[in-house]
Amino acid sequence: MFINRFTSPNYNQRENSKIDMLVLHYTAMAGSCEDVCKWLCNETSHVSSHYVVDRDGTIFSLIDDNHRAWHAGVSFWDGSSDINSRSIGIEIHNLGEGDCFPEKQISSLCRLIKNLMDKHGISRHNVLGHSDVAPERKKDPGNSFPWIDLHEQGIGIWSNKKITNNKSMVNIGEKSQKIEEVQNHLKSMGYNINVNSIYDNATRIIIEAFQRHWRPKKTDGFLDLETEVLLKDVFSQFKYMKKLDLD
Ligand SMILES: [Zn+2]
Repeated sequence: MFINRFTSPNYNQRENSKIDMLVLHYTAMAGSCEDVCKWLCNETSHVSSHYVVDRDGTIFSLIDDNHRAWHAGVSFWDGSSDINSRSIGIEIHNLGEGDCFPEKQISSLCRLIKNLMDKHGISRHNVLGHSDVAPERKKDPGNSFPWIDLHEQGIGIWSNKKITNNKSMVNIGEKSQKIEEVQNHLKSMGYNINVNSIYDNATRIIIEAFQRHWRPKKTDGFLDLETEVLLKDVFSQFKYMKKLDLD
């Protein structure tokens, strides 16, 4: 399934964590996928990922799953700030915002993800984007990434709820119970958010990250009715999945 032509020295030991997350990235680098692999295997780069998926579907394996690759950087999810220790990183060869993901690449990616979910017992809600775990710094895998196609393969959480009202319901600095509820939902999903009932800039950034994943056609960070409805649905699916994990 994988090509082992490249081996990266950029890893260390996981901090006694079980592997329970997959973090998806786009490479956003010019050049071929081999060039990207070489960079991730260059010890001066200080970055790496376990896998790289080429546009034609070829999968390169750079680091053994058991090692801690350096892909997430400063990040946070669900109470944990050492995402590299609990995750497997997958780089998807793509130029970044505006570039498309060929079908072959996505079907290969889905095969890889399913394989890793089975192998490590990773729940489908724990397949996330770099932008979910590092919303202030990162946008990948970006607005063009087809999360819905992954959902059709049983990967990730998705909501099909459709509301066309995109009028913002809040203003920056506003304080209300509705904002508190939204912050609580985002926090309970796993986002690094301070619940203070105020629609502050930090909250706007997290809402934007949520939109990037679940409502990519409009990612302005404003709380509109569609975002609120999607968040309620996605939050309740996370809650359900997390309960299954505990049972
Ligand atoms: Zn990334």
